[in-house]
Amino acid sequence: MPKALGCNYEAPTFGARYPDGTCIDGFMWDLDSCDEPGGPLTSGGDTPCPWCNTRAHIEWRDTRHSGNARQRRTAARALVAKVRAWAEARSSFDPAGRFQHGAA
Ligand SMILES: [Zn+2]
Repeated sequence: MPKALGCNYEAPTFGARYPDGTCIDGFMWDLDSCDEPGGPLTSGGDTPCPWCNTRAHIEWRDTRHSGNARQRRTAARALVAKVRAWAEARSSFDPAGRFQHGAA
């Protein structure tokens, strides 16, 4: 990965109809899993973020591509734009506009 993972992606992730998942270092965490407002999240970290960790997200979804490794790579590459568009549409934030965690 050329750049650090982690973005402002927040979207319905863990089955809720509201954005219940947020991206931390490239993986989705369950916003409902903290005991206090602003507290640490205790559940998540398994789902690659579809916005900044797109390739891993595609693999995680097991898109069941057939064919050899080269064909699967081509298919995954074609999916990246599609998945990122999907992710951006779902996110309650603008993940592209404010990409860096903690950046001013
Ligand atoms: Zn992300």
